[in-house]
Amino acid sequence: MLIVMKPSATAREVDAVVNVIQAVGFRAHPMPGATRTAIGITGNEGPVDGRRFEDLPGVAEVIRVTKPYKLITLDLRPEKTIVKIGDATIGGSELAIIAGPCAIENRDQAFAVAEAVHKSGARFFRGGVWKPRTSPYTFQGLGDKGWEIMAEIRDTFGLKIVTEALDKSSVDLVEHYGDVIQIGARNMQNFSLLRRAGRSKLPVLLKRGMAATLEEWLLAAEYIMAEGNYNVILCERGVRTFAQHTRNTLDLAAVPAIRRISHLPVIIDPSHGTGNAYMVTPLARAGVAVGADGLMVEVHNHPDLALSDGAQALTPAQYAQLIDQVSAIREISVANW
Ligand code: PEP
Ligand code: MN
Repeated sequence: MLIVMKPSATAREVDAVVNVIQAVGFRAHPMPGATRTAIGITGNEGPVDGRRFEDLPGVAEVIRVTKPYKLITLDLRPEKTIVKIGDATIGGSELAIIAGPCAIENRDQAFAVAEAVHKSGARFFRGGVWKPRTSPYTFQGLGDKGWEIMAEIRDTFGLKIVTEALDKSSVDLVEHYGDVIQIGARNMQNFSLLRRAGRSKLPVLLKRGMAATLEEWLLAAEYIMAEGNYNVILCERGVRTFAQHTRNTLDLAAVPAIRRISHLPVIIDPSHGTGNAYMVTPLARAGVAVGADGLMVEVHNHPDLALSDGAQALTPAQYAQLIDQVSAIREISVANW
């Protein structure tokens, strides 16, 4: 159930509604918007009797939610969510660029890539410290030494750190060393991890599971938001299909499909979405043209020597070219939306 407050409702009236929601044992999620505040209710297993709220001062409307999700919806928040990370944003007017290697391999590699992506417009640096690899015999990440490197990169370049939390305990480490918690495709339905991230103060970048429907993905975001963390960024990174010319099939239609339902920002990862370096720039262009709020791109100073995902890594020069091209497209597309 959603309670929409009148545009004239006072903060005191909003608080009074929140108190009633809590008094009956539910959780209230007030979402202030440009014209009005709406309050989502979670924690109820069955339908909530809306009559209890209808006559409270300041209430405009009580809406029964028939969809499986509540907090991600445009009904709750008609304006897009803009996630703020220091002086950078995701979901606002700037195109958010998150770039870096698949994995932090060593200090020299991480610094070389960070310097290059910083020079060409990235505000966010990505890189796995622990990697969720398909085979237990491949490089699993540098491990805890990687956190210090990330922290140094943040200090040196002012880049915001986006890195994956593989489990609940690594959320603590990302909170300490990073700026955005990445939840990977393989963990999209790790519900205890989602709940833990939902209790964090950091924004969460939630990748789409490799076999997840849009609804499953949005419900995973709902898990995070239901815990009180409303700063969720969705990342389309391709799903598994019968196609063999790509590692995954990048579902660009997810961008307008999400826009129709949700206020959350959505970005595109053309690196995991294709698996081939030569496809990354064309699909990045397409992602921006279709209205993505940003891109996550893997870059390596020596793709041939990369310890993970070298085949899809761009060189710094290729990355710089990608940025030039997508910036031009962003300008045209934003002007015409
Ligand atoms: C990654 O971004 O390094 C990664 C492992 O991606 P995904 O979870 O999309 O496979
Ligand atoms: Mn990777």
